[in-house]
Order: sequence, then C-alpha cells, then structure tokens
Amino acid sequence: MDTIDALHKSPAKLAVPMDALAFSFDRKVGDMTITPLTDGYLDPDFKFLRDIPDENVQLLLKLGHRDGPPRASVNAYAVRAGERIFLIDTGSGNTMGPTCGRLFESLEAAGIAPADVEAIMLTHVHPDHSNGLIDLATNTRLFPNAEILLHEKELAHWFDDDEMAAADERAQHRYFEMGRRQLTPYVEAGRVRTFNEGEILPGILAVPCHGHTPGHTAYQIGTGPGAILVWGDTVHVQEVQLPFPDVTVIFDWNPVDAATSRRRIIEKVVAEGLTVAGAHLHFPGFGNIARNGPGYALVQQPELLKM
Ligand SMILES: [Zn+2]
Repeated sequence: MDTIDALHKSPAKLAVPMDALAFSFDRKVGDMTITPLTDGYLDPDFKFLRDIPDENVQLLLKLGHRDGPPRASVNAYAVRAGERIFLIDTGSGNTMGPTCGRLFESLEAAGIAPADVEAIMLTHVHPDHSNGLIDLATNTRLFPNAEILLHEKELAHWFDDDEMAAADERAQHRYFEMGRRQLTPYVEAGRVRTFNEGEILPGILAVPCHGHTPGHTAYQIGTGPGAILVWGDTVHVQEVQLPFPDVTVIFDWNPVDAATSRRRIIEKVVAEGLTVAGAHLHFPGFGNIARNGPGYALVQQPELLKM
C-alpha cells in the first residue's frame, strides 16, 4: 500500500504516464484540428425511413448487430485553426429529450468556451443541428461572438412565409418557428452570413448538397487525400443508407434530390479519397467509404491514443 500511495503522490515515477490511455478522436488536416463533439443520440422509429420495407430495415440492422430501432448519433464538429475556433452545427439544445443535449459538456471537455467560437457553419436548420444556438429561456445567443454561416437558400427557406404556410403543422412548429427563433438573435445582431458555394473560411469549402433541406451543405476541411468532408445529414442510418443510398427519410424536404445528393456526395468521397465526418454516423463519425456492390460500406479508421 505504501508503495502505491507513494507512486500516486509522485506520478513521475510511474512507468506508464497517467494520461497514456487518454483517447483522442481529433483529426489533423494541414494545420487544422477537427474535434468531434457528441450531443447524444436518437432512436427514431422504423417508419422514419422511406422507400424500404420495415423488415428489410430490421434485417440490415441485425446484420449491423443492432436489435431494435435505428440509432443515430448526433455529432457536431469543432475546427481549430491556430487560435481560431469554428463549429459545424450546435446540437439540439434541450429540445430533443434525455438522450441529447450534451453539446456544451462536450465543448467543455474539449476545452472550448462558447465565447471563443468565432464562426458556426450550419449544415442545415433542423432541431438536432441548430437548436443549440440560443438559450430558449432568454432568447439570447449562447455563442456571443460567433458569426453564423449557412447557405443562402437555407436562410431564405425557413424565413419564407409561403413555404411555412404550405408545411404541415409539425414542420411549422418544429422547423420554421424554432429555426426562426434560433437564428433571429444572430440576424438582429448582424451576425449571419450566407453563401452559395466555395471557400467560406480559410481552407474550408462549402459543398452544397440540397434535398434533405433546400440549403443542406457539406463542409470540406482542406483539399486532396486526407481532407475531411463534414457531410451533415447525407446519411441518417449508416446500416441502411450506405448499402441502399436511395432510401430516404420522412424529414427530407425533397426526397428525390436528397437521394441524388447522397449518391453524388458519396461518389465524391470515394473518388477523392476523403475522410467523412457524419452528423449521424456512430460517434465519432469518421471513416472512409468503399464501393460495395450496388451500394457502399463505411471503412473504419484507427483512432489515436494520446501518447
Ligand atoms: Zn440531423
């Protein structure tokens, strides 16, 4: 006992440093570091997937050793470039039940203060991506120094009264009203910037992939092999939509365009040897993609130990 106590008191004497087994999910691209941030997970009903019979979904999940409803991680990503800190998506705030809402704990664990975030790139305005923008009790910005970047069609869509009137009641409330509420404090502060495509921050490219929403956008960190494409909701359920990319979800604004964009983005990833970072791939959401028959498969990458 004495010896162990002494070792704890002088950790320098330990053969193995105490932090040797600390895991890092960080990825480097050039001089940028990408940190995955979990907000939690969702277990949506089978019916959330379209264009495939329930029993086929069940079979695919069983093949993926998942006995139950599909599970979707909810991931955001931080990008550190020198002293600059950017976020891609903000999680769900406290709006999506007890399995979500952990983004701010993840930020703290990563050593990132919300006030230090300079820009937030939104893949799209849906509750699991943008409801972490404000404090709903006070309608104030949780990222007081951040500029919000999103596709011009995305901002226009959610603030379009005709589009809102044409939507069903659930979408009106959960998407339109909440999206406006989350964004308005940033709009009023002059802290929203829209784009079409191309380089929106140094070394970061916007890659529009519309369909899931009108302005759904992936963000490419760096260029060439080793670059990371943060692809948002290109895939919701990896066990199903990678082997069968034409499967859509009930939340797709335009399911045909969503499926077309999915195939185009996946083919880009395969052709260019990119690493993907998926908002709903199992945490930390990184991998490569390989063609597999008429569909695709995720190729896991080794995680890194902090040594
Ligand atoms: Zn989503």
